Amino acid sequence: MSETPPDISVSIPCPLCEYDMRGLPEPRCPECGARFTWKELLEDRPHPYLFEHHPERNVVAFLRTALGGLRPLKFWKTLRPTHRIVARRLTWYWAIVCVLMASSVLGIYGLHCVQLADQIARARASYPAVFGDASYRQLLDEIAPQPGSMAFFRRAWLSPRDTTTSILGLDPRIENACICCVILLLWPWLTLASLATLRITLRRANVRRAQLSRVVIYCGDAFLWMPLAALVILAVWVWNVFDVRVATTGRRWAALYPNELEEWFVGSFAALLVLVFAIRFGVALRRYLQLRHAVSTAILLQIIVLLTYAAIVSQFG
Ligand SMILES: [Zn+2]
Repeated sequence: MSETPPDISVSIPCPLCEYDMRGLPEPRCPECGARFTWKELLEDRPHPYLFEHHPERNVVAFLRTALGGLRPLKFWKTLRPTHRIVARRLTWYWAIVCVLMASSVLGIYGLHCVQLADQIARARASYPAVFGDASYRQLLDEIAPQPGSMAFFRRAWLSPRDTTTSILGLDPRIENACICCVILLLWPWLTLASLATLRITLRRANVRRAQLSRVVIYCGDAFLWMPLAALVILAVWVWNVFDVRVATTGRRWAALYPNELEEWFVGSFAALLVLVFAIRFGVALRRYLQLRHAVSTAILLQIIVLLTYAAIVSQFG
């Protein structure tokens, strides 16, 4: 690794703040304090597997990037600010993360539909059969819409009429899943906004926005594991439905599967992912942005985000 200053006729912008480093005696940016090697500043080498740099194998690159983030120390050692930012592919990466997150809401909705269909089928069976009476059937369809009909899917989505706690007017279970999804997807960007307010204090006033976006995206992709929670809920449900003991004792899934348990599980899983995000963010601040007080900064920023959400909740509260 050559540490000889290169030809001074070439402009060498600092990858973090774009300060022109040509002619400097050492590859350390006087503006933002970040340290590099002349070799990495001058060459344009792609990252070994990053989604941004490998359009020729999208699926593999996506999976490897997502899995790579699970080992933050290694990830933020291999990814350097000197790796060229491909904004379009970085945006695509985040869009796919958002779609995967939204799929967890759809998963919960699908499960909710199946369970509601079961409830409705039993409710309809318990009504006296007055066949032939059209107005009675219409009333029955209104109270307990046929599974599979549009009215049924709307019923599964919308809040029951007697619920007054709903914010979005959706079924409480779906609404919780939606709110959880939105909170998590906004989390990295609120962290970024909080970091922006501290940039001058941290001597990072001039760090390029694209670099900061890259940091929050490769930390925020921790939330793409949220659909795992929906899968676990589905697995528990399937297990209970097919459990022989349940079948023989006549107890249904509803008795074994209270919604409170689901809320507790989804909440805990989301909290775990926030913790994973915070750890990754702390590592990124230290290794990528080369901040000196990375851990305390990461903790402080997460407290700011938590307080922001607490303020929003108290507004609705
Ligand atoms: Zn710099």
